[in-house]
Amino acid sequence: MARYLQAKCRRCRAENQKLFLKGERCSTVKCPIDKKDSLLRKGPPGKATGFRMKKMSVFGIQLKEKQKVKQMYGVLERQFRRYFRLANAQKGVTGDNLVRILESRLDNIVYRMHFATSRSQARQIILHGHINVNGRKVDIPSYNVKEGDVISVKERSKKSVVILDALKLINSQGVVPWLEVDIDNGKGVVKQLPRRSEVLDLANINEQLIVELYSK
Ligand code: SF4
Repeated sequence: MARYLQAKCRRCRAENQKLFLKGERCSTVKCPIDKKDSLLRKGPPGKATGFRMKKMSVFGIQLKEKQKVKQMYGVLERQFRRYFRLANAQKGVTGDNLVRILESRLDNIVYRMHFATSRSQARQIILHGHINVNGRKVDIPSYNVKEGDVISVKERSKKSVVILDALKLINSQGVVPWLEVDIDNGKGVVKQLPRRSEVLDLANINEQLIVELYSK
């Protein structure tokens, strides 16, 4: 399975933006992006100190925006392009549809329900067969979750240290309003799929740039 292999913080530094690739851990570790002038002082990864970024073309800006979103959700080009085609074929604003499709991936929902501390950990948990959707095992991280679906941790996996540790964060961080989680029974329900304004991680992302890029 193809995946991103570069160190997570390094990828954020390359974009000079917090992409929250370590999930919950981003709030507990020292984030290099928080260090003032870190990019000015060090330059992007792999570049000499004092390196100056060239002014980017419109195409470059659109491309960067797409790369950021792909990295945040751990999606590669072919799949991302497929999501765009789906979003474009749906009614409504294409950018909003694209965000909703990305948010409805099973690995994202497992992360949002606090069964994992990051999307990459959620992918591992799903691939190892610890997650059921509506009572049936699903081991496909990109599985498309629908409104009303019940996501649960398998009975034998409820004592997993990884999952129990992730669930501990639910009290301090809470759950997004469009999901409902029953911690004691290790399951949650997708009450509804999110509106664009409810996806706070993407507050600094302009998905319209991605729409323009793919619409050329
Ligand atoms: Fe690292 Fe998270 Fe900060 Fe990105 S947002 S640089 S992954 S700590």
